[in-house]
Amino acid sequence: MEAHSISVHPLTGDPTSAWKELSKTQKVIKVNVKIPSKPVERDKIRFVCMSDTHSLMRNMLFDIPPGDVFIHAGDFTKCGQKDEVIQFNKWLETLPHKHKVVIAGNHELSFDQKFSDLFKKKVTSQLGSEENEVLNYGNTKDDILDAVREDDIKQYLTNCVYLEDSGVELYGIKLYGTPWQPEFGGWAFNIKRGAECLSKWNNIPDDTDILITHSPPLGHGDLVCSGVRAGCVELLLTVQQRVKPRYHIFGHIHEGYGVSSDGKIIFINASTCDINYVPKNLPVVFDIPLPEGF
Ligand code: 5GP
Ligand code: MN
Ligand code: MN
Ligand code: MN
Repeated sequence: MEAHSISVHPLTGDPTSAWKELSKTQKVIKVNVKIPSKPVERDKIRFVCMSDTHSLMRNMLFDIPPGDVFIHAGDFTKCGQKDEVIQFNKWLETLPHKHKVVIAGNHELSFDQKFSDLFKKKVTSQLGSEENEVLNYGNTKDDILDAVREDDIKQYLTNCVYLEDSGVELYGIKLYGTPWQPEFGGWAFNIKRGAECLSKWNNIPDDTDILITHSPPLGHGDLVCSGVRAGCVELLLTVQQRVKPRYHIFGHIHEGYGVSSDGKIIFINASTCDINYVPKNLPVVFDIPLPEGF
């Protein structure tokens, strides 16, 4: 075994209990971040993070702060319909950032081919029965069928770098993005807690500086309003013990919006929408010194 290989945690299926145990030896420092009033300094790069905008860009009650790199951590649509993706792409074009990096979330149904295939089969076999009420979040069955019909949806994202278990290097800074989350509700990129999640986190390179996932790690930005924890314990362990990025950006648990730290890594839940799908949370902005030679 490698020195830093991560194991499945015995309490993987019960994140609330897993956190009760892990939090005995971990600190969570709340970080207050404000949108900077001054432009970025010459020797720094400004990152502007958002997530969970759910096709509500026109309802936002704030301006998007300028910067060098814009990051969106998934759930940019309600169900991944082509028209939603085209609208999002048009909106990206209006943003002033030099680089735009986007990952998918569980709402981007059309981005997960395996899900689309399964869903098409499921819905088709249930047509005419009452069980086809597999719908949620205000999407109709027609919306969902329209979304999963799309076979090459990524072609409509022309104004960003789309990451899916892949990375990009900007100004010598290594970013990596992945859409997978512990299963909940049966949406796109849902996988089982434990070994299945860990197998995805094992693909994150050791030298990642900025990690972008749709869902939170355990203990940071993952407290659901019902009082339970929804974060992935193996994601936390991977991030803290092996990858050690400077920043971990995510969304998904809307009510977990905010920034925290374990003393080393900065965790950013950038969910723009609140629990009622009102897009009211401000983008999170941070500056990183330019690496030498850039
Ligand atoms: P979304 O549908 O946009 O992915 O998530 C919206 C909301 O659903 C979250 O803010 C959270 O309240 C709830 N939710 C999403 N995933 C989970 C989960 O894994 N566990 C629990 N308990 N709630 C979740
Ligand atoms: Mn969401
Ligand atoms: Mn590292
Ligand atoms: Mn989500």
